[in-house]
Amino acid sequence: MPSPRAILFDLDNTLADRRTAFGRYAVDFFQRQGTRLSPRHQAAGADWMIAIDDDGRLSRDRFCEQLAARYPELGLDAAAVWRDHSRRLWTFYEPRPEVTSLVDRLARDFRLTVVTNGSAQNQRRKLERIGLADNFDHVVVSGEAGFEKPDRRIFELALKMIQVCPVDALFVGDDPMRDILGASQAGLLTCWVRGNQIFPEGAPRPDLVVDHLTELESRLGCSMPAR
Ligand SMILES: [Mg+2]
Repeated sequence: MPSPRAILFDLDNTLADRRTAFGRYAVDFFQRQGTRLSPRHQAAGADWMIAIDDDGRLSRDRFCEQLAARYPELGLDAAAVWRDHSRRLWTFYEPRPEVTSLVDRLARDFRLTVVTNGSAQNQRRKLERIGLADNFDHVVVSGEAGFEKPDRRIFELALKMIQVCPVDALFVGDDPMRDILGASQAGLLTCWVRGNQIFPEGAPRPDLVVDHLTELESRLGCSMPAR
């Protein structure tokens, strides 16, 4: 793989552990419903909520509609579910020291940018919560950009901001379609943060695969020119 000059990162489940945050939010959401649901139904509700969320892949409109429809006894419509989600989910994000130090080290050698889908306010709050609000040259959020991954235009916008050609940029993300397909269609190099996923048939293969973000540095080290 050629050596990149810039690294663009996905946020949720790449820089930030959304999976853990969402699990804690789901439990908290149902615990807050008090006597409207029995403890057993609260626990089942959290499990159901985590399942339909699908690591954030379900659109937020559908997520809110489905939750409101499944639990009419809570007296929440989709808009009220969205307000709760928007006000509280980000508060469950936690800093990961190994990621903070990795980003600090990479910033010495690469232009660093975040490209994330979501509302600008929520995504920026998450970056603040995990201690990475000031570590990037730019943060491109779909809610502000007007395009969302995998639309190649959001990647092109980010590259324009840092004035780097696609072939000199590496996109790092966990989602095979939004991140890897999208970035490769825009001509970037790609690194898939695999976790426990299986890569789907038909999507373009990533240039690099890591199980965890912290492996990125050593993998890049192999292809970086001597300094
Ligand atoms: Mg992600």
